Amino acid sequence: MLLSIITPCYNEEQVIQETYKRLTEVMKTIEYDYELLFVNDGSKDKTLLILSDLAAQDKHVKIISFSRNFGHQCAVTAGINNCNGDLAVIIDADLQDPPEVILDMLEIQRKENASVVYGVRKKRDGESKFKLLTAKYFYRILNKLSDVQFPVDTGDFRLIDRKIIDGFNNLHEKNKYIRGLVSWMGYKQVPCFYERKERFAGETKYPLKKMLKFAATGLLSFSKKPLKMAVWMGVLSVLIGLVYALTVLISKIVHPASFVVGWTSIIFIIIFFGGIQLLTIGILGEYIGSLFDEAKDRPEYIIADKINL
Ligand code: UDP
Ligand code: MG
Repeated sequence: MLLSIITPCYNEEQVIQETYKRLTEVMKTIEYDYELLFVNDGSKDKTLLILSDLAAQDKHVKIISFSRNFGHQCAVTAGINNCNGDLAVIIDADLQDPPEVILDMLEIQRKENASVVYGVRKKRDGESKFKLLTAKYFYRILNKLSDVQFPVDTGDFRLIDRKIIDGFNNLHEKNKYIRGLVSWMGYKQVPCFYERKERFAGETKYPLKKMLKFAATGLLSFSKKPLKMAVWMGVLSVLIGLVYALTVLISKIVHPASFVVGWTSIIFIIIFFGGIQLLTIGILGEYIGSLFDEAKDRPEYIIADKINL
């Protein structure tokens, strides 16, 4: 049995050495053979240098290095595409997900004979109130909107087996929302509760802008409800328009003399309907944008270098 540990890294020079150490300590205690597959997502610091040194000393360390920064989900995708394990664990480089939890995941996998053991965050240390709150509501709203049910408070930290890896490698959609796709695949999936720690060092590589983009990817790839909402907003505004037109018509017939055209109501209506139209076009645009990405069929990442692979 071979266990692959997939770790995406973007500018992680401050933590990567420690991550290697902690992962190796855990791996020494298990009976499987293992590989530590680091995906360098176009880091601009010394991450790749440090990783290459580690790879020269330890053949368990394998590296995929991108030609530029393609993003976290692409890095994880490359890891899954290129790992050799019968089982694989996806784990962040910053030690927020403690490597020791992998042992619990392996234990649960064996006991339950599960295909996926996903980490559920019981507690999250050292994250801003804003991040906690937005993350909490994001997962719950997405569940309401989507046709597939996702476990809440779950990131990409998880153990997957060969069936899931092969299934995933057959999915060719761009802009992947990996945690959603894995849930979507089915098989037996069980939770593993753990406490998410503070980042070991360095700062988050997920600023608000990236978080929003990520949330939009999740929503767009698993729900058509925004489109339906657009239709209902259209229906609602037509109804409001009809009622208003009728009121105007009747008052013009009943009191032709006293009828004054109201400037305020016209402005109100222009803003209201204009807003609904722009919103609807925007929603359409997002979906068309996704189609555009699929149609161009560009690869999700470009590998510049492979070490020990
Ligand atoms: N990451 C990456 N590419 C990116 C952004 C992040 O490979 O463009 C990696 C990063 O090195 C880390 C993981 O993805 O291993 C999660 O990122 P981070 O810890 O910054 O996110 P947070 O935990 O703050 O949501
Ligand atoms: Mg982190």
